[in-house]
Amino acid sequence: KRSSPYQKEFYQAAEEVLESLRPLMLKYPKYRKHKIIERIVEPERQILFRVNWVDDNGEIQVNKGYRIEFNSALGPYKGGLRFHPSVTAGVIKFLGFEQIFKNALTGLQIGGGKGGSDFDPKGKSDNEIMRFCQAFMSELFRHIGANTDVPAGDIGVGAREIGYMFGMYKKLANRYEGILTGKSINWGGSLVRTEATGYGAVYFAKYMLEARGESLEGKRCVVSGSGNVAIYTIEKLYHLGAIPVTCSDSNGMVYDSEGIDLVLLKELKEASRQRLTEYVKHRPHAKYTPSEEYPEGCNGVYNIECYAAFPSATQNELNLNDAKNLLENGCFCVSEGANMPSTPEAVDLFVESKICYGPGKAANAGGVSTSQLEMAQNASMVNWTFEEVDERLAQIMKNIYNSASQTAAEFGEPTNLVLGANIAGFKKVADAMIEQGLV
Ligand code: NDP
Repeated sequence: KRSSPYQKEFYQAAEEVLESLRPLMLKYPKYRKHKIIERIVEPERQILFRVNWVDDNGEIQVNKGYRIEFNSALGPYKGGLRFHPSVTAGVIKFLGFEQIFKNALTGLQIGGGKGGSDFDPKGKSDNEIMRFCQAFMSELFRHIGANTDVPAGDIGVGAREIGYMFGMYKKLANRYEGILTGKSINWGGSLVRTEATGYGAVYFAKYMLEARGESLEGKRCVVSGSGNVAIYTIEKLYHLGAIPVTCSDSNGMVYDSEGIDLVLLKELKEASRQRLTEYVKHRPHAKYTPSEEYPEGCNGVYNIECYAAFPSATQNELNLNDAKNLLENGCFCVSEGANMPSTPEAVDLFVESKICYGPGKAANAGGVSTSQLEMAQNASMVNWTFEEVDERLAQIMKNIYNSASQTAAEFGEPTNLVLGANIAGFKKVADAMIEQGLV
């Protein structure tokens, strides 16, 4: 139920998927006979654990750790780890649920999982981050494995955190193996993994637009967030000749009418880990708006005129007011880099208005796809070039688009990629579950 306070994000994600499945269930009674819905909404396994660590003042700190192993019908559990104070069992469960269908859509052999902690990395020293990551892995290591469960990064977990967790795993297990993705390219990572989610969301927009005879070239675009997904969305938009004019963080947003200075943004966010308030000190013509000054009930990013929007921060960051503002300002394309960034009412409006709307589980699948390419390289002990991985990523995004749009057309709503993505992903997992028996 949307109103349920308990695990509300999970109910929101599940309700969207289940509503889309109505026509499929009517067409194929076998899914009801095998009770696939009842089975698929229950995780195969949920792990909740305590993480003790010591901060720089010598104080003991205690956080919650989670790993949810949701569905392994298509392959080892795969999905990121999120470190953010807003993490709860419900958030991890919604992310794990979405991951099942996203991973199925990629066409690769990966099941769905997710994990993380309510640990807040903001303001922590490098040593504190290392100690936390080591403490987290000291429990997680017994549950994961290269053919069992392979976590990756998500909000608050990037190459640095993956490195510290990998080091601890190696020490505890005494094995050097691909149990995490998003590793440094110096020791087992894949080229393009860092860029993959952002690049993928832009490729997805490109394929949606091409099908309508449109393109991103010369178009102004808004992007939310200023983390991994946002930065590489902005980079790929420039590659395709578009002009990204915004980025944001949880304190406010930057509007740079000349286009976001990508070199500066990378320097601030990736190299020196600073806040966006610093951006306007280097680009005085750009405007910084703190989130308290956003128009009431709105996210400032979606108040800017644009042709395409790329929500790349977090869940429920784009509500019905934002969706209305976007449409009134001429936005024709929304491609979600973040997971479930649009509220259900906003999604309904995008679908009704028949713009190009790419839901997160399709549009942001480039990250997990490239993670699977990293697993393939680890298993074969061969490294592919940047161009090779990028070409595979673009092809996978095209396949996802084709699969979602063909399924949407088959069920009579050709522009409804929510319907198409949910049905196509579900069908793949459900058929595998039936073939593998009641386990
Ligand atoms: P990062 O931690 O690198 O960046 C997150 C960005 O979102 C930061 O700018 C952060 O701002 C902002 N943000 C986080 N929480 C909030 C909030 N409550 N309100 C406003 N802004 C917020 O994470 P990623 O870029 O990796 O992830 C972004 C989204 O993309 C998430 O939804 C994630 O699940 C999704 N995703 C990521 C993938 C990946 O490969 N990394 C793969 C698929 C999906 P601040 O610094 O102020 O917190």
